[in-house]
Amino acid sequence: MAQAFKRLERVLDLEAKQGYENKAVVGGIQQFAIYWVEQARQEAVDEADRAFVEQVADVLAEYGRLPGTEARSKSLSMLQSGLARRRDRVGEQKLTPPTRRPPRTERKSARPERSPRQEPVSQVEWLKPEPEPVVEMEPEVVEVALPEPPPLMDEAEILEETAVSPDPEGLRQSVTAIKGVGPQIAQKLERLGSATIWELLYLLPRRYDDYTSMKPINRLQYGEQVTIIGTIWETRARRSRNNQVVIQTTVNDGSGAVQATWYNQPWLTSKLKAGMQIVLSGKVEQFLGRPVFNSPEWEPLELEPLKTRRIVPVYPLTKGLFAHKMREIMRTAVSEWAERVPDPLPDPVRQRQKFYPLSHAIQQAHFPDSQEALHKARRRLAFDELFILQLGMQGQRHEWQAQPGIPLQAEPGYLIQFRNSLPFTLTGAQQRVIDEIQADMAQNRPMNRLLQGDVGAGKTVVAAAALFVAFKAGMQSALMAPTAILAEQHYRGLRGTLEPFGINVCLLTGNTPAAEKTAVYAGLADGSIHVAIGTHALIQGEVVFANLALAVIDEQHRFGVEQRAKLRQKGAAAETGQPNPHLLVMSATPIPRTLALSLYGDLDLSVLDEMPPGRQEIKTRWLRYSERERAYTFIKSLIKKGQQAYIIYPLVEESDKLEANAAVEEYERLQKEVFPGERLGLVHGRLRAAEKEAVMRDFYDGKVDILVATSVIEVGVDVPNSTVILIDGANRFGLAQLHQFRGRVGRGSQQSYCLLVADAASGDAEQRLQALEQSNDGFALAERDLEIRGPGQFFGRQQSGLPELKLASLLDSQLLEMAREEAQRIFAADPLLQQPEHAALHEKVADFWQDAGDVS
Ligand code: ADP
Ligand code: MG
Repeated sequence: MAQAFKRLERVLDLEAKQGYENKAVVGGIQQFAIYWVEQARQEAVDEADRAFVEQVADVLAEYGRLPGTEARSKSLSMLQSGLARRRDRVGEQKLTPPTRRPPRTERKSARPERSPRQEPVSQVEWLKPEPEPVVEMEPEVVEVALPEPPPLMDEAEILEETAVSPDPEGLRQSVTAIKGVGPQIAQKLERLGSATIWELLYLLPRRYDDYTSMKPINRLQYGEQVTIIGTIWETRARRSRNNQVVIQTTVNDGSGAVQATWYNQPWLTSKLKAGMQIVLSGKVEQFLGRPVFNSPEWEPLELEPLKTRRIVPVYPLTKGLFAHKMREIMRTAVSEWAERVPDPLPDPVRQRQKFYPLSHAIQQAHFPDSQEALHKARRRLAFDELFILQLGMQGQRHEWQAQPGIPLQAEPGYLIQFRNSLPFTLTGAQQRVIDEIQADMAQNRPMNRLLQGDVGAGKTVVAAAALFVAFKAGMQSALMAPTAILAEQHYRGLRGTLEPFGINVCLLTGNTPAAEKTAVYAGLADGSIHVAIGTHALIQGEVVFANLALAVIDEQHRFGVEQRAKLRQKGAAAETGQPNPHLLVMSATPIPRTLALSLYGDLDLSVLDEMPPGRQEIKTRWLRYSERERAYTFIKSLIKKGQQAYIIYPLVEESDKLEANAAVEEYERLQKEVFPGERLGLVHGRLRAAEKEAVMRDFYDGKVDILVATSVIEVGVDVPNSTVILIDGANRFGLAQLHQFRGRVGRGSQQSYCLLVADAASGDAEQRLQALEQSNDGFALAERDLEIRGPGQFFGRQQSGLPELKLASLLDSQLLEMAREEAQRIFAADPLLQQPEHAALHEKVADFWQDAGDVS
């Protein structure tokens, strides 16, 4: 794209519009020319272009000296017609000046359009996907002509620069070893997670202020986050009515003036002196019709440093640690220590992927020379995280597959028998996945498979087929679910499916009475129980299986890696040399395939991508709080037709007594005041097992019309006759969880409804509720959730058992894929990372996974 020409066009248009006062660009058009010509030369596509560029450069250089409007307008229209001719020649389109971004055609249509972006062009959030070039289309953005950024260094120069020997010992020192960091500051840094110098180097900016493009004051717009440069005209201090010290400064940049205000920082009067040049950055607010800044970040403009930090890092701060100080500390730390960081990435990988050496990447990630350098730096660091993650995964997979497994052969006739016993026909996807699982189980190395399928896709029957196969091979199997309610439901359902074949199924949860437990333990140990269904109770020490050959984990996102490992150890019993059981984990948190492969690199993947026939789209409505009454009326109308309903309360902590009380209260209110004629049941986390089970049974049997529940009901509960779910306080749940709740209805053939009532909705919550209204597709929603929340929260550490990623975006599938390939390559050559050139890598992998808890 010929960006330089577009930019020129924009500047010319702006200058014309402003009456040829040479103000379109701070510093004047002649300054712009210097900056522009470099880029334009590179973008020139042919000889004619090159000649044109030089002509433009000449004209612009003289522009400021031209006397009067007429001469100026003439010279600019000459350039404008030159640009028009060029457009015709190279076939580009005239810039229309849209104020909004053009529609993005590559977006999936299911996804809602994002609202116009709030953040300015000058701030780059690297955790999001790359910024889009749309920036070029916004005419308000005016380039400030600043000195040309230093050219990017080439590989040889970088390497030469970093020819200092690594010093891991030094890097492990406390941050107090850095000049200017005493114990007090060290404490604050520790709060930010940086106790050692090494950690400090990885405390990366949360964003960057890019002073290479900023706005003149007369073009500020309310609400935008922006940076300006100007001269202080005056600074005043006064006391407000509530006795705060208020400092007010007027800053003028030649195009206009703006007022900035700070509170309770009296010392600023002596710092913000009239005549001083200053950089301000903050949100433009409105006061009496004028733009103002409230407590903006500021910094004296020093031309020299600005050259080197045209892109300024903005760090996470903590109480008592100010931006200035933080930047100073970082500057010292980076300049003294970055080059001593050992680079774990083997040279061939680095060269193949053209990555910066690590020390250069760290240095540029803090104090970038240019956007491009910054991008390359963050990319290198993000790659490291993913690469190490992948190596860890490969290691686990390797370890797992090195164990012997138990080949379980199912004769074809068996499964036909099983299929025929079902009240429905399997979908094509179910049949395919059952085949994949069966093929795995027939191997003499243990299966390690993830089954993904959206809520309601019918994962349970797939699991049942696997349990059936194990039984037919004369072995035991277990199915673990995250909640007692879900385990009980599975027990009820699977007993119905399996018992007719003479399979002895038992239930084991925390609620199982002691006497019964003893019996179950005995049955599992002597092999008379064939299938154990339960919760965490299954992985307790007392539980011993006679010959466990298959472990199934339902809703695996609720379990950590550790629990997965524990369950499979129930069969392994390394002491006895018994082989490992096959493992099937099931998840209704659908994530894109590449992501799944990368994240669960140690697992094989099966996907149920087809819903059982006859399902209807669930209709989802987001209601105002005041519309609850309408929702109640609607629910009543469905109950009249013999259908059932859920009402969910946002009481997330199951253990909290207060919240249970609130649920009881709400339940009583509903029963008395709203639904006196309907039969209500209540389940929450504090109920005793028997009580809970009784209510659930009544609901299953249709003796309860409305089940009032806390989030204990989130996963898996399956009552096909329920057709409406009202989620009260929907704004307090995450998107994935809301989708799970919604999955409680729409399980039969009747039209189902999901009503979302929000008591207050923040921006995020609003986005979630909208997304939910617009889509029934778990995959699309999961992607959206990732976007809204970021991967850090989406894959909470506890949930995924994954180490925390600081930089890498799991949405960057290209980088993920690269990391996976490189990890596989290394792994193929040196699975245990024993070769000397992999020593640093080995240590990193160990460290990284250490943080994620015990993984084996
Ligand atoms: P999930 O994948 O969310 O665990 P379930 O296994 O609970 O879904 O299945 C959802 C519902 O669909 C259950 O009532 C189940 O009996 C039913 N079901 C599963 N497979 C089929 C099928 N092939 N045809 C019709 N109904 C099916
Ligand atoms: Mg399920």
